[in-house]
Amino acid sequence: MNTNEDRSSPQPGHCGSRRALLKSAAGIAAWGVIGAPLIGVPELAYAAAMSKEKRDKLTPDQIVEAMKQGNERFRTGKMSRHDYLAQKRATVAGQYPAAVILSCIDSRAPAEIILDAGIGETFNARIAGNIANDDLLGSLEFACALAGAKVILVMGHTACGAIKGAIDGAQLGNLSGLLNKIKPAVDATHYDGERSSKNDEFVDEVAKTNVRLTIGEIRRRSDVLAALEKDGKIKIVGSMYRLAGGRVDFFT
Ligand SMILES: [Zn+2]
Repeated sequence: MNTNEDRSSPQPGHCGSRRALLKSAAGIAAWGVIGAPLIGVPELAYAAAMSKEKRDKLTPDQIVEAMKQGNERFRTGKMSRHDYLAQKRATVAGQYPAAVILSCIDSRAPAEIILDAGIGETFNARIAGNIANDDLLGSLEFACALAGAKVILVMGHTACGAIKGAIDGAQLGNLSGLLNKIKPAVDATHYDGERSSKNDEFVDEVAKTNVRLTIGEIRRRSDVLAALEKDGKIKIVGSMYRLAGGRVDFFT
């Protein structure tokens, strides 16, 4: 348990800490880490974030399920009441995130918020068009092989500007090289209608293909992650976030 700092102040039993306990326990339960019976147990008063013990008990499938439930809370406006200060204090000494999310930089698709996750629960890698280059693969390897995350969630989203740019063959400084990495998804998308960035349906189809190709790249270019997946230690899952409605569709 990484809660030493928090035991100093405030004292257990203080009404403020009791409120923090209730909020924290609810947040953790929401991610499927602890159940309702633990709410109110003083020893867990400061367990505001994921502990190693709790994370290690979760299977990749349970973590994916918790993500789905988190998105459902977000989508329906029933988000957990996050006590970020308590979560911050509880994670000072260490972090045990259950998952790593590779998603787009789009300001409308903040992964932690749309999955209703708190501080210390997920690693987050964000890059325009959620592609996987060498440095991102290294980040994913760190998250899973060294830091113990059990799920890689690749998340694309609707109306993605990077996807539109790749379809249009846009050129701008360093962006050109990034868009070139998305280009294979444009070519690999089977679509009979108008293949243009003005066609929202086509743009979203390319975004889905891009998520699948990114997952393929992860498996093909990272022996470390491919081996973890083969051993059942991690699960690599694709998903699409719909800006309209706020739903994350998981490709499982
Ligand atoms: Zn995007």
